[in-house]
Amino acid sequence: MRAVVYESAGHFAVTTVPTPRPARGEVLLRVEIAGMCGTDLHIHDGGFFSAYPLTPGHEIVGRVEELGDGVAGLDVGQRVAADNTVLCGHCSYCRRDQPLFCRNFRSLGVNAAGGFAELVVVRAEKCFDAGDLDLMTAVVTEPLACVVHGMDVLDLRPGADVVVFGAGPTGLLLAQALLHGGAARVTVAGPTAFKLELARSFGVDCTVLVDRSAPAESIELVRAVAPDGFDVAVDATGAPELIERCPSLVRDGGTVLVYGMAGESDRTAFSPYEIFRRELTVKGSFAQTHCFDRALAELRSGRIRADGIVTHTFGLEEFGAALDAVRSDRSCLKAAIVPGTSS
Ligand SMILES: [Zn+2]
Ligand SMILES: [Zn+2]
Repeated sequence: MRAVVYESAGHFAVTTVPTPRPARGEVLLRVEIAGMCGTDLHIHDGGFFSAYPLTPGHEIVGRVEELGDGVAGLDVGQRVAADNTVLCGHCSYCRRDQPLFCRNFRSLGVNAAGGFAELVVVRAEKCFDAGDLDLMTAVVTEPLACVVHGMDVLDLRPGADVVVFGAGPTGLLLAQALLHGGAARVTVAGPTAFKLELARSFGVDCTVLVDRSAPAESIELVRAVAPDGFDVAVDATGAPELIERCPSLVRDGGTVLVYGMAGESDRTAFSPYEIFRRELTVKGSFAQTHCFDRALAELRSGRIRADGIVTHTFGLEEFGAALDAVRSDRSCLKAAIVPGTSS
């Protein structure tokens, strides 16, 4: 089969590799669509916890091609969204029901073979029926599952005034989850007008067009929306210069949620006195486990919308162009690889 293969960071080829076979308890999926996100750029550069050689692609939707021994409840031909996380089940964190911190955490497309390929092998229990969803909706299941986990972590108080930095796919999904999860008002700040327009079409109350190259000025534009402070400031950009300023935007007793992925070596300065005196809370939210079913329920009901999020699709052979689009095409909100096409 054809697959994207990285031999090392920064060095990939679209090449022919042996067709994988499902072992006991596994299924082989024919990939229909695999979403790309900023994480794939980090992986390209050797960041996150990527391990090579690697076929990336962690946002996987496919049709069941073949069932391994002992698999029940799935049918050949069925469309599923695949939870890319693999948990060991026996480390100290798994045994205390904190599987996200699994010492042997594996993630298809990060440190195990992922979905930028014609076929991918997935554990059967990680396959969630998505037969009733169109591909452009189903493909946001993984990022939305991460958002569901973020909402669990945030534990939002009803009536909260919330600002989200970042109007990328994640920011737009998170803003909707906040909106329907009890926030009284949601403001989204981002540097791209069409993405903010989409945010408004999804019901977001207020948007602020900011200039990425001027973080200090951007913060002041956002502060003007809530001069007395937001209850919650969420960073969905991973930009340290924004995260650093988030405490100044929340009310006393407020919460900063670090949702976007910063670089591993990035550092920001917080005032411990301010965190103490103002009783601020800083929370982190990383990936997800066990959130696919709720993400699919939100997509199925239409409560959370995905229309317009995927703006660019590419064939498998065009993986390089897809990376370029994610990296630098301002008209690209979300790109996806559709292995069955060539354009
Ligand atoms: Zn992703
Ligand atoms: Zn574990």
